[in-house]
Amino acid sequence: MRRKLVAGNWKMNGSLAVNSALLASVNAALPAKVDCDIAVCVPAPYLAQGQAALTSGPVVLGAQDVSAHEDGAYTGEVSAAMLLEFGCSFVIVGHSERRSYHAEDSAVVAQKTLRALQAGMTPIVCVGETLAQREAGNTEAVVAAQLDAVLAVIDAAQVEHLVVAYEPVWAIGTGKTATPAMAQDVHAQLRKMLTARNAEQGEKVRILYGGSMKPENAAELMAQPDIDGGLIGGAALKASDFLAIIAAAK
Ligand code: PEP
Repeated sequence: MRRKLVAGNWKMNGSLAVNSALLASVNAALPAKVDCDIAVCVPAPYLAQGQAALTSGPVVLGAQDVSAHEDGAYTGEVSAAMLLEFGCSFVIVGHSERRSYHAEDSAVVAQKTLRALQAGMTPIVCVGETLAQREAGNTEAVVAAQLDAVLAVIDAAQVEHLVVAYEPVWAIGTGKTATPAMAQDVHAQLRKMLTARNAEQGEKVRILYGGSMKPENAAELMAQPDIDGGLIGGAALKASDFLAIIAAAK
């Protein structure tokens, strides 16, 4: 039985005051022991604030991106070592917004995954198809190529340190959600790929669903056998919605 993971992706939202209120509400509502793992992936300038606010309680800190490089002349980038200094346990890599707005290809995403693993953080590796790719019947091929690029560069012994997030691009921030059955189909395919790389460890990897997950659909999605939690965008910005999704993760 895999312990579920609910990870909030704040994207480029927030302010010191707004974050402070949001984290205080989430912290105050959660008991010390909960039935799932919880993370919030905050914008880089707020990592110190997140680190200070999450010293007790079940919520851990994550980042939204990491450089593919170790250090050096890469203006604007943030290294894995830097994220670690601020107590990050998780880092999102290959989010579709990075792939599409910043031209990150799967080779870069694979390098970022390696950097996170080398630093001892858990990468949340995002994969997912566009609407055009789904309508052309290419979902399986697209997500397979995205995950394969990562599995090709890591050791078989590192498979268990991954979290994978299936995020159909057409469902992100649109209010459209994959049906539980549609999502489960893709999650089962991803599970097969992970277990092919490492039979024992592939069973342990959490595969999250992301794409307009909200209190109304979270329980049904997370009841699917291979859906081990959620990567939550919009609903992570409202304490009551984020808490309701956490409550649905058992
Ligand atoms: C995301 O940004 O990863 C995401 C899933 O966003 P939303 O929940 O808003 O669709």
